[in-house]
Amino acid sequence: MQLSARVSALRPSTTLAVNAKAKALQAQGVSVLSFAAGEPDFDTPARIKQALIDALNRGETKYCAVPGDMATRKVIAEKLTRENALPNVTADHVVISSGGKQSLYQVFQALLEPGAEVILPTPAWVSYPPQIELAGGKVVEVVTTAASGFKMTPGQLRGAVTPRSRALVINSPSNPCGTMYAPDELRAIARVVADIPDLVVISDELYEKIVFGGIPHFSIGSVPEIAERVVTVNGLSKAYAMTGWRIGYCSGSGAFGLQLSKALQTLQSQSTTSIATFELPAVRVALTECADDVERMRQAFARRAEITYSLVSKIPGLVCPRPTGAFYIFPDVSAHFGKVSANGTVIASAADFAAALLDEQRVAVVPGEDFGSGGEKCVRFTFACGDEQIKEGLSRLGAFVASLH
Ligand code: GLU
Repeated sequence: MQLSARVSALRPSTTLAVNAKAKALQAQGVSVLSFAAGEPDFDTPARIKQALIDALNRGETKYCAVPGDMATRKVIAEKLTRENALPNVTADHVVISSGGKQSLYQVFQALLEPGAEVILPTPAWVSYPPQIELAGGKVVEVVTTAASGFKMTPGQLRGAVTPRSRALVINSPSNPCGTMYAPDELRAIARVVADIPDLVVISDELYEKIVFGGIPHFSIGSVPEIAERVVTVNGLSKAYAMTGWRIGYCSGSGAFGLQLSKALQTLQSQSTTSIATFELPAVRVALTECADDVERMRQAFARRAEITYSLVSKIPGLVCPRPTGAFYIFPDVSAHFGKVSANGTVIASAADFAAALLDEQRVAVVPGEDFGSGGEKCVRFTFACGDEQIKEGLSRLGAFVASLH
């Protein structure tokens, strides 16, 4: 059978692949500690689950409108207005999709012509480049380093712009870096964007609620000069521990936002139609009644960030900034490249480091290569798991590093 060139060239999601490998080993009875998928270990809050159960019992099992029903889109528009200060957002601007991942996929499909350049500060989440390329776009990496907290400067952005630049991806707090931009840093980036006609900002804010470094989350779409060129993408997976529900949404502002919303609805009408109808009341409950649950989980992530950072900092040769948001730490492990593990594996790359760590200490982390330039010296470790697992995992990581010679 001949597969399309488009799909044949596609690489699978590394984050999901490493997670699947860890789960397969666990199913065989191997005691693997997985720090691979960015997935909160908490259960979905009971109120949210009950809202879905009630909707099912009311028989809300038929098709709903493609972007979600008006009541839910209104709740999301109010959230974006109140919490994110996005101007001119109404229910009509909002499109609900099956996860932030589908929202992003569709936004790239809707905005990119073949050859259009998308500026991507890296290291960045593994799925942006394949999604951009599937839409015919070309990734232009702006490489950031641990020394700058993995943040792009306005000067770097200016240097990456060409006449073909069409979009800029901002992901703050960042997956995989675990750092975030301060409001003034995003305002400075917005000033550069303001000078580049037609450049659209795609702001992935999935981790907005998981912040603990004293830096407030800021939505670049709230900057009036560029608001009508920003698409804000968010979802319920991370803040509400709802990864398996697959609920994401996006919105632009004003006339641009309405035009984009219509295009996204047309696109989605030809693929998944909508999220499950009986999830919609649960979305409303999450966004209006569960601030206390979000805060409880945020505090746990804040504590785990501290434990993780202090333990990683004690392991010789591992270098990373203190995490300020999301639930990842992304240490540079390249000080150990060229060494040999206890089993005789030569560690020449982050992939070798992660593979040997899994083989020899049964600890799964995501190697940094697929997070783009700047990631190839690093491994991603998520602390979205219990304190005891974190301590045990980092003790094994320490033992692994100590065994290298
Ligand atoms: N976004 C999470 C991660 O990076 C979930 C897996 C995925 O979709 O990539 O681990």
